[in-house]
Amino acid sequence: MKLGLQGFVRNDSGGVTVEVQGTSQRTKEFLQAFQEQLPPLASIDSLVTSELECLDESEFSILRSSVSHSESTPVAPDVAMCEECRRELNDTNDRRYRYPFVNCTDCGPRFTIIEDIPYDRPMTTMKSFTMCESCQREYDDPSDRRFHAQPNACPDCGPGIWFVTKQSDAKKFGSMEVGKHTRDSADAAIKEFATAIRNSDVVAVKGIGGFHLACDAKSLSAIAKLRERKGKVEKPLAVMIKSAEAAEAFAYMSAAQRRVLESKERPIVLLRKRNSSEHQAMLQCVAPGNDCIGVMLPYSPLHTLLVDACMPLVMTSGNLSDEPIVRTNAEARERLKELADSFLFHDREINVVCDDSVVRCVGNRILPIRRSRGYSPMPVALATTGPSVLAVGGEIKSAFCVTKGNYAYMSQHIGDVGNLETVDALTRNVEHFLKLFRIDVEAVVADLHPEYLSSRWAQQFAAKRGVPFVRVQHHFAHALSLIGEQRWSDDRNAIMCCFDGTGYGTDQAIWGGEILIANSQEYERFAHLDYFPLPGGDACITHPSRTALALLRRYQIPWDDRLSSISTLTEIEKRVLRKQIDSGFHCASSSSMGRLFDAVASLIGIRHSVSYEAQAAMEMEAMASEVIEDVQSSYEFTMKPAKAIQIGCQSLLESIVRDVSAGVEKRVVAARFHRAVANMICSVCSHARDSRKLNTVGLTGGVFQNALLARLAECRLRAEGFDVLSHTIVPPNDGGLALGQAIAARTTIR
Ligand code: ZN
Ligand code: ZN
Ligand code: FE
Repeated sequence: MKLGLQGFVRNDSGGVTVEVQGTSQRTKEFLQAFQEQLPPLASIDSLVTSELECLDESEFSILRSSVSHSESTPVAPDVAMCEECRRELNDTNDRRYRYPFVNCTDCGPRFTIIEDIPYDRPMTTMKSFTMCESCQREYDDPSDRRFHAQPNACPDCGPGIWFVTKQSDAKKFGSMEVGKHTRDSADAAIKEFATAIRNSDVVAVKGIGGFHLACDAKSLSAIAKLRERKGKVEKPLAVMIKSAEAAEAFAYMSAAQRRVLESKERPIVLLRKRNSSEHQAMLQCVAPGNDCIGVMLPYSPLHTLLVDACMPLVMTSGNLSDEPIVRTNAEARERLKELADSFLFHDREINVVCDDSVVRCVGNRILPIRRSRGYSPMPVALATTGPSVLAVGGEIKSAFCVTKGNYAYMSQHIGDVGNLETVDALTRNVEHFLKLFRIDVEAVVADLHPEYLSSRWAQQFAAKRGVPFVRVQHHFAHALSLIGEQRWSDDRNAIMCCFDGTGYGTDQAIWGGEILIANSQEYERFAHLDYFPLPGGDACITHPSRTALALLRRYQIPWDDRLSSISTLTEIEKRVLRKQIDSGFHCASSSSMGRLFDAVASLIGIRHSVSYEAQAAMEMEAMASEVIEDVQSSYEFTMKPAKAIQIGCQSLLESIVRDVSAGVEKRVVAARFHRAVANMICSVCSHARDSRKLNTVGLTGGVFQNALLARLAECRLRAEGFDVLSHTIVPPNDGGLALGQAIAARTTIR
């Protein structure tokens, strides 16, 4: 319109079509301006232009969206409130002053409210609200910043909030009458919320991607109550706080961390705790034994109002442990009744649940830990195109992936697919993705593990659809997830260090300390940690001391009672364990790096049993970080050449036992161990470089959530002249696995 052109624009399920007609000068100007003046949320993936015959047209119009049944178009993730909307929220003269659902074309919910494409209001959960005259005027006016803002709403016509206690009249749990909520009723609800929080109550709050359980971060009794009810005995929680400045009172923040904290994705960012006496108790209580605390800023207007009323808040996902996060008011009333004292509801339906994302920073690089709200379902652009496949990931921290063309759509965090509720969530979300992105699955892929519920689900799904079912080895999938997101060349090999806790190997052992030489078609197991027994298999995950003893026994290192790993067990327990290890009864064979970290943490005396996976390793990382700059390491892994190089721990463990017995500080031993692992990575990679002429190293697998190890390994490798691939888009843990599985399957079935 500005350039006086005629033609039309139309949203369709394959993207956007614009036809303009005018002088060639003007149309050129249009094409340039179109690319240079994009609104904040727009991005151009590809632009195709062609010249057409002129038509008899007198104006420029916006045409109704058209849907095709084969083409797909990306769906935007949910975006944090923009600055303009924040200004309105705080402006006493604005008609949306303190309205909890302010949004505009540049911000607001998307993925969680979209039922189908194209993205128009009738295809969202906002369809039940009819816009008032003022809102409609904004929506229809191309010059308004709410032009075609699908969730557009105001206190007169949009959703509202209300507060109820558990004792409240059951009727109040349902939806509220539209138009009945006013600024006063919303303010009253927020006031009641604040009072409840001050009374150390746990409040279930409906947000963007589901319910949270909120409590006062400064009330130790409230946090204790929340933990007890949730059964999260020691797991770190996250806090939501007004601003980055406010967070700096209790956490250190680099420029990179601040940028991601304030980004439109607004993930939980893991920040190093600042030791101040004022916040000591809160930090210890929110994230015990951890040197980091998860911090997020409010991302919706509702959260902004809540945090303004009583900051900071502990915010944890509203679910029973291991179950999917709660979505509807009715579900919350049922499933959260034992967990929450009261509820803050709203009546904008959530169509898809989406947990908060979690990231940490390694230097300036963002390391995703959980990719969910704000990121999903932005597609990962792959280097090549291929068939459409569905990959279901592993068992824990599950997320699935569907591909179409050169796009891989990674789902939000689904959770641990170990119970029926999560399997239901998997089914529902897979169906939603297939519909949303118009995908006809040509193959289904799962992990090699025969017992995974997700693998069985995938097999059935493939059978129902009559398409091939493929299994991919766990660590090869890790390698491919990194190769895929970093668009490493398809046919060239890279040295992939895949370190994690558990992955089913082709020889039925539990792998996890794997150095593979891989490309998108195939892999070779170049080196791995030498096998050691895991007495009781998965029982070792919760009892690092068992792994420690098994490792010592494996290398014929005496069980010395001066080590707390040993003295923590009774004589009978030791006798039983020794017998079990020696006979191999119920012992899995393992090359798991995650278990080695656990075992060393136990030997050092940091922790002999844990309440969540990798707890011991996380605490060890925290200790090592304190002194790493002043510590060098003489600890050594050994390397035995064989078909695959066997990385032995004899000398390493002997050195650790010697240091621990000699009373060397825990954190020093921990730091030496971290350096030793980084050194080992570097020497195995040098070996691969010499023998195979390869120069690119990838670091993947859950162990690389350890930012200290990641940083040490990257530094060493770069100093030796290697190119290093690290995750920046999907997590190195099993949350990124599906991407690698999908890439493998596309090659297999092609
Ligand atoms: Zn906005
Ligand atoms: Zn309105
Ligand atoms: Fe894994």
